[in-house]
Amino acid sequence: MYDPIVEPYPQSWQQYPDSYWARSITTFPETTSLVNDIQADVAIIGAGYTGLSCAYHLAKQYGKSVVVLEANDPGWGCSGRNAGFVLPGTGRLSLTDMEVKWGEAKAYGVFQEYMESIDCVNDFIEKGQIDCDKTPGGYLKLAHKRAKVAGLREQAEKLNERYGESVSFVCSKDVSRSFLKSANMYGGIYFDKSFAVNPMKLVLGYYQMATEAGVKTFSNSPVINWQSKSNHQCLYTQNGRVTAEKVIIASNGYTGKKMHSLVNNCHFPVLSSIIVTRPLSSEELESIQIKAGLMAMDTRRMKYYYRLLPDNRILFGGRGAISGKKADNPKHKKRLTEGLKQTFPILNGIEIDYFWSGWVSATYDNYPRIHHNKDKTVYYSMGYCGSGLAFSSLAGKRLAQSMYEPELLPDLPFWQSPLRKFPFSRFRRVGLSAYYTLASLRD
Ligand SMILES: Cc1cc2nc3c(=O)[nH]c(=O)nc-3n(C[C@H](O)[C@H](O)[C@H](O)COP(=O)(O)OP(=O)(O)OC[C@H]3O[C@@H](n4cnc5c(N)ncnc54)[C@H](O)[C@@H]3O)c2cc1C
Repeated sequence: MYDPIVEPYPQSWQQYPDSYWARSITTFPETTSLVNDIQADVAIIGAGYTGLSCAYHLAKQYGKSVVVLEANDPGWGCSGRNAGFVLPGTGRLSLTDMEVKWGEAKAYGVFQEYMESIDCVNDFIEKGQIDCDKTPGGYLKLAHKRAKVAGLREQAEKLNERYGESVSFVCSKDVSRSFLKSANMYGGIYFDKSFAVNPMKLVLGYYQMATEAGVKTFSNSPVINWQSKSNHQCLYTQNGRVTAEKVIIASNGYTGKKMHSLVNNCHFPVLSSIIVTRPLSSEELESIQIKAGLMAMDTRRMKYYYRLLPDNRILFGGRGAISGKKADNPKHKKRLTEGLKQTFPILNGIEIDYFWSGWVSATYDNYPRIHHNKDKTVYYSMGYCGSGLAFSSLAGKRLAQSMYEPELLPDLPFWQSPLRKFPFSRFRRVGLSAYYTLASLRD
């Protein structure tokens, strides 16, 4: 599998992973690759939610000519292979962490932005009439140990004061009564605004909306070279070149090791993996009683996340391998099946029909950035950690605003500083390996 820490960019002509989502698409859009020299106001690298949302807003709202260059096909990165949780959050900071770091007002401002990111996905779905199997069901963050309950309860109570019923604390009895029956869960925080989608159908919907707005997307056209001139930027692909006033890096976890000095060594691509079971029998469903559309994640350091799919399979995800070379090693699939068994003992031994992985982008200080170089010709948005579906959709819009209407940006830390470089970046993987060992002991 492509490895962003080792390789400079993803090779072209790679298939989508054999995922449940890719199999759900009957006809993929016909795309072309770049084979000549063209010009645009803005060139965007990466056709996932970030790049396509930004492209759409630049074309639709600001009338810009926009070219998107994608190494493979739209949604080939994380956007076509995630779990489809539309969540109020990104990064790894809790509300309490944010209050300590930025004070109460900013922390709530960030949470407001998270809620808006869900509205942003909804707007896309409504405007583009995207048929992405949207299923309301809410998001439940579950304590996997009694010791985690108090923190979740405190967060829920604070958020409940501001957002009313849409955020609430649920005790362990209510979890089993209304949400799911699982081993070892001790209550949690419930966000009822969250919903589940088919992420591949969603990203292809964004692609279609961007195309209809006049955006030109070229697939199988990785950017392999980049020259910054005094008044323009040149991006080179194998067979063509785009000259643009401004460039946006929207390659997130798939950003290769030498993309641009603004982002090199400023993020850490980490693998997350998913298994999907065969459809559950009615006895199995009766035993686990998981609510349709519900998305659940636990409080482990190495989190498990899961949901029931529309055809009654369980999607179950968690950490993946350390390197791209080992991504498909069966031991990672086995680790997830163990996690599934711990969560729902009745599913011990169930057949697994799908297993795939993707690169999420972690940052040094656990939250993403939407930033630019000094002369505002190169912009980026990245570092959503494991949860960027909703946030990257809004980040695309914010990127467009930060270029052409920066006064509209809410006063939040995401766009007020650049990404921080990882110290000793060469040793990131050694650190990750040690972290995984320690975390599994502590979990
Ligand atoms: C297994 C898994 C499960 C997840 N589940 C969830 C979830 O349920 N909810 C949630 O909120 N988040 C989830 N995420 C995270 C979420 O999917 C991402 O945060 C989000 O999709 C990021 O979108 P993006 O557009 O920024 O990047 P991507 O969708 O990764 O797109 C980046 C694109 O850039 C392209 N690219 C890279 N380099 C070049 C180059 N040199 N030239 C041209 N193109 C290039 C890549 O080919 C890629 O298609 C999950 C991630 C994974 C891996």
